[in-house]
Amino acid sequence: MPELPEVETSVRGISSIKNKVIKSIKVNQPSLRWKVDCQKLAQFQEKKVQSVYRRAKYIVISAADSSIILHLGMTGTLRIQRNDSNFFKKHDHVEIIFKNEKLIFNDPRRFGSMHFTDDFENHFLIRNLGVEPISEKFSGEYLYSKIRRSNATIKSLLMNQNLVVGIGNIYANEILFDAKVRPKRRGKRILKKEAIKLTESSKLILNKAIKAGGTTLQDFLSPDGNKGYFKIDLKVYGRNKENCDVCKSSIKLIKQNQRATYYCPMCQR
Ligand SMILES: [Zn+2]
Repeated sequence: MPELPEVETSVRGISSIKNKVIKSIKVNQPSLRWKVDCQKLAQFQEKKVQSVYRRAKYIVISAADSSIILHLGMTGTLRIQRNDSNFFKKHDHVEIIFKNEKLIFNDPRRFGSMHFTDDFENHFLIRNLGVEPISEKFSGEYLYSKIRRSNATIKSLLMNQNLVVGIGNIYANEILFDAKVRPKRRGKRILKKEAIKLTESSKLILNKAIKAGGTTLQDFLSPDGNKGYFKIDLKVYGRNKENCDVCKSSIKLIKQNQRATYYCPMCQR
């Protein structure tokens, strides 16, 4: 599943649609994770794209007072193609058509989604989202205030989308290693200085991944059609029984909420 850095990379890859006028939107297959509401398509006609950005793992395309909210799901990809090209791929579900080119959403497994709204902030997918991890709002003070009474583990808190968005399993493991915090510690046991370090590590790890073009363990097509992503240097994830780069101890693998957790028992306390 694409994580935040992959989504950010996709957003940057389609940024050329900014300031272009939408001619029409064509839905070939409305049965995505949620059925595409085709009644709202007309309101995008002749509207100029004002911005393309990421909110959590959603790609938002805004035009006048309306927004398109897109989620790549497990296997969703975007590509830009000229209108006069005959190239068509199986699972091309939605086409946003401009004067000379179109943005195509392809998704073989159809866990992705596309919504059209004129009230973005109050949309049901958006209104309960926590803060962005790479923003000033995700400060040590903020994290500490949210976790200091919690019995949940720090790893599940970092992955709680109502608290902070877009930190998936791979990056949660790497952030906890960088901050030297054990994944199973309870929120209420985390010291304030550790909360500060956790927010710093989050920004560091996610920015590194965005710079590298995102990392994923599954095939992923970037908007320009290149297959695969550069992998960031994962310090613990997927490295069960390998030696820790820092202390040479053996990295451990445990399960937390059915998800794989990797950590170094020496470096992380
Ligand atoms: Zn270590």
